[in-house]
Amino acid sequence: METETEKLFRVSSAVGEIQNNICRAADQQGLLTAILDIVGALVLILDKDGRVVYFNRTCEETSGYDFLEIKGKCLWDVLTREEDVESAKVNFEKILKGNYPAAYENFWNSKDGSEHLIAWSNTALVNEKSEVTYVIATGIDITERKLTEQRLQYLSYFDSLTDLPNRTLFYDRLSHVLGHSRRYNQMFALLFLDLDGFKFINNSLGHDMGDMLLKMAASRLPKCVRESDTVAHAGADEFVIILPLLERVQEVSLVADKILDAFSTPFYLDVQECFISMSIGISIYPDDGDDIDTLLKNSDVAMYQAKVKGGNSYQFYNADMNSSALRRLKLENNLRKALEKNEFVLHYQPKIDLNLWSVSGVEALIRWLNPQFGMISPVEFVPLAEETGLIIAIGEWVLRTACAQAKHWQDIGHNGILMSVNLSARQFKSQNLVLSIKNILKETGLAPESLELELTETVVMDDAEKAIKILREIKNMGIHIAIDDFGMGYSSLSYLKRFPIDCLKIDRSFVSEITTDTDDAAIATAIIAMSHSLKLKVIAEGVETDGQLEFLRALDCDEAQGYLFSKPLSSDDLKAYLMSKKLKSGK
Ligand code: C2E
Ligand code: MG
Ligand code: MG
Repeated sequence: METETEKLFRVSSAVGEIQNNICRAADQQGLLTAILDIVGALVLILDKDGRVVYFNRTCEETSGYDFLEIKGKCLWDVLTREEDVESAKVNFEKILKGNYPAAYENFWNSKDGSEHLIAWSNTALVNEKSEVTYVIATGIDITERKLTEQRLQYLSYFDSLTDLPNRTLFYDRLSHVLGHSRRYNQMFALLFLDLDGFKFINNSLGHDMGDMLLKMAASRLPKCVRESDTVAHAGADEFVIILPLLERVQEVSLVADKILDAFSTPFYLDVQECFISMSIGISIYPDDGDDIDTLLKNSDVAMYQAKVKGGNSYQFYNADMNSSALRRLKLENNLRKALEKNEFVLHYQPKIDLNLWSVSGVEALIRWLNPQFGMISPVEFVPLAEETGLIIAIGEWVLRTACAQAKHWQDIGHNGILMSVNLSARQFKSQNLVLSIKNILKETGLAPESLELELTETVVMDDAEKAIKILREIKNMGIHIAIDDFGMGYSSLSYLKRFPIDCLKIDRSFVSEITTDTDDAAIATAIIAMSHSLKLKVIAEGVETDGQLEFLRALDCDEAQGYLFSKPLSSDDLKAYLMSKKLKSGK
């Protein structure tokens, strides 16, 4: 395809040739005008004083002036943008001296006030004495193209949602600041910011609202820093700030405090009032790193620590953080391969029916045995699996393995053992949950009545109405549902009544002090009484002593689970346990 420049030169030489022909064929003037009107480029002819002697139709359309209005006037008196007048005159002088620029750009002010950027190419006509008689200028309006170029350039350095510098510009500025700080031995700070609980807002209010909140949050940040500082959008709900030329580290605390303060007032999403806070991690050059990657990594580590402490706070990096952050990073990498490497195993902890004094069921508890790290507790890796989304695949594996195991025990004669499987938040919210459960039950041949799912209070209360729907679907299949770690979250009693659940599990923390702490005893007593009046079964977890067991039995607690009876056991050990039918604690 012909480029604009090629077109310009083609038109320009064609015009030159035509003009030469004028002398020879004056009667062709009408034809010439017609041609010049349709070439699609601006064509104008100036005399040696810069006065317009010819102005084609494209010139008229672009400028808004008729040829007759402009004829005989100096071009720069009418059209050239004020700040370009001088250069237009200089260019024209050069052309007269035979030393003209082949192509240049300038702005035209049109009659309606709009500005057009025109790319020009000039040809001078000379007489037999080699004096310039006319200058033929041909031009193309490149305003649109320039605007597009500018926009593209803007987008490659700025984030279109927040209008803040993007990662590219941020890295550029950071390496500049780093270079400068190294050279002049100066300190600078890098702040890594992450909105607390943004995912929750995004999921519950929708992505449009989420975007709106990000935009509003972003607009509060630059007001907390100096103009010479850089605030950039690092992606998702993360921001980064560079504070160059630090004199004292305390200056960073002031900025961090200012940011936290700026987020203490609510945002308004339409009419909805919304509070959101920040977690900020800070690394300082040169103490916390000598290169971009280390400084960024350390500010991220510090930000994570601020999160762990509950958010809405800032945290300076310190070297101790690295060991735990590094472990987390390595665990995460290993976790991705753990399923295919068969590193997971399920242990089973018996649950004891306190009336029948027999094993009523088992809870499947996942274990991860990694060659590098040894046995890793689910308390450490389940949250990691949640964050990374790996929990979906891991959870399916747990469910399939547990169901297959339960079916196997039934097949060898251990009937009436309910298999309990823990479901995490992300699993519970996954679209495919019900279908995946159905498939696994079909695949393994386990009856739904032999399966119980344990969900924590927080998971079901998060979006109670939606939870009720999903729970009903599960319940209608015949599966049992238990609320795990009950007492730790905030259950609404009216919802509790509506949840189609079978059982409440009293959290271990109340059980462990039940005989010594009157508050815990009162809570456990209330949970048991409430469960019974709601016609729910109640089980106490973490029973370790005979004293605790006696207390629970006196309250008429239905079931108990804990080290007093058995720790979680491998499938073989559990089989042996079931065979022995000997419960450790006597009545
Ligand atoms: P949970 O579901 O409340 O499981 C009970 C935890 O208490 C288990 O820890 C169990 O070993 C422990 N425990 C049981 N009896 C006693 C006792 O008498 N004393 C003490 N001190 N502890 C006792 P574990 O196996 O480390 O699991 C911790 C948590 O990890 C579980 O809490 C559950 O939330 C999660 N988890 C375990 N397996 C899975 C799984 O397959 N999927 C999901 N989503 N979460 C799992
Ligand atoms: Mg559980
Ligand atoms: Mg529990």
